[in-house]
Amino acid sequence: MTDILIPSGTVWLVGAGPGDPDLLTRKAEKLIKAASVILYDALVGRGVLELVPASVRLVPVGKRSGRHSKDQRTISKMVVDAAQAGERVVRLKGGDPSIFGRATEEIEACRAHGIPYRICPGITAASAVAASAGLSLTLRGLARKLTFITAHARAGEELDLDWKSLADAKATLAIYMGKAAAGRISQKLIAAGLRRDTPVLLVENASLPEERQFFTRLNLLAISGSSALGSGPALMVIGEAARQARDVTVPASADIAPHLPVY
Ligand code: SAH
Repeated sequence: MTDILIPSGTVWLVGAGPGDPDLLTRKAEKLIKAASVILYDALVGRGVLELVPASVRLVPVGKRSGRHSKDQRTISKMVVDAAQAGERVVRLKGGDPSIFGRATEEIEACRAHGIPYRICPGITAASAVAASAGLSLTLRGLARKLTFITAHARAGEELDLDWKSLADAKATLAIYMGKAAAGRISQKLIAAGLRRDTPVLLVENASLPEERQFFTRLNLLAISGSSALGSGPALMVIGEAARQARDVTVPASADIAPHLPVY
C-alpha cells in the first residue's frame, strides 16, 4: 500500500487542516503513514504529528511569522533533495496547501527537477473558523461573494490590496495573516466606504483546544486585534456573515488599549 500511495522518489504536498487531527482527511492520514520523511510547517497541529509513525522521519521546516525559520528556497531544496535520495516525501502544510501555502515554489522546484508530485487538499482555516463559530461564510442575498485575502506584508511595506473592490458590503472577507495589519485593514476598508460598524469575527487557534473567538466591529478592529489575541494563528471574517457570531465575547472597549486608534 505504501508504494502505491507514494512511490519512492515522489512528493505529496499534503494539507494538514487547521490543527484538530479529526479534521485531517482520510487520505492525508494514509499519506502520513506511508511516507518515509515528512517535512512539516509550524502550523501543523500537534495532534496531527502524533499520528506519524515512529519509523517516519519528521523534519520541522518552521514558518511562523516573526520567528526564525528556513527560507522558502531552502525548503524547496530540501523537498527536492529528499525525493532525489529516493524517499517517499510528504510535505505537510497547515490548512490547504493551495491557499497561502507557498505551494507554487515547491511545485516549480519539483517540475524543474522532473520529480513527480501530487497534492492532497486540506480544510482551510476559513472553513474551520466558520464551523467553530457556527456560521456560514456566504449568505443568500447578503454575502454573495467570499474573498480570501492575505494581509501579510514585509515590515515597512504598504499592503498592496485593492481596497475599493474589497469594501463591498455584500461580500465576506476572510483575512489570513492579518493580525499585525488589523489597524491598517480597518482604516483602509472604512476609507474605501465600508461601514464602521461592519461585523468582524476574530478566531485564534481555530479547531484547537486553545481556540478563542471574539466578535467586534470594523472601527474597533485595531483594539480588538491587539488586546484580544495572543500569539496563535488568527483569522478575521469581515462582513454580514460575521454577524451570526455576535453572541461570542465582545472584548472591544476603547479603554482596553487607549493608545490604539478607533477609526
Ligand atoms: N494554508 C493555510 C494558511 C496558511 S497562512 C490554510 O489553508 O489555512 C497562515 C495563516 O492561516 C495564519 O496566519 C492564520 O491567519 C490562518 N490560520 C491557520 N491556521 C489557523 C487556525 N487554526 N486558526 C485561525 N487561523 C488560522
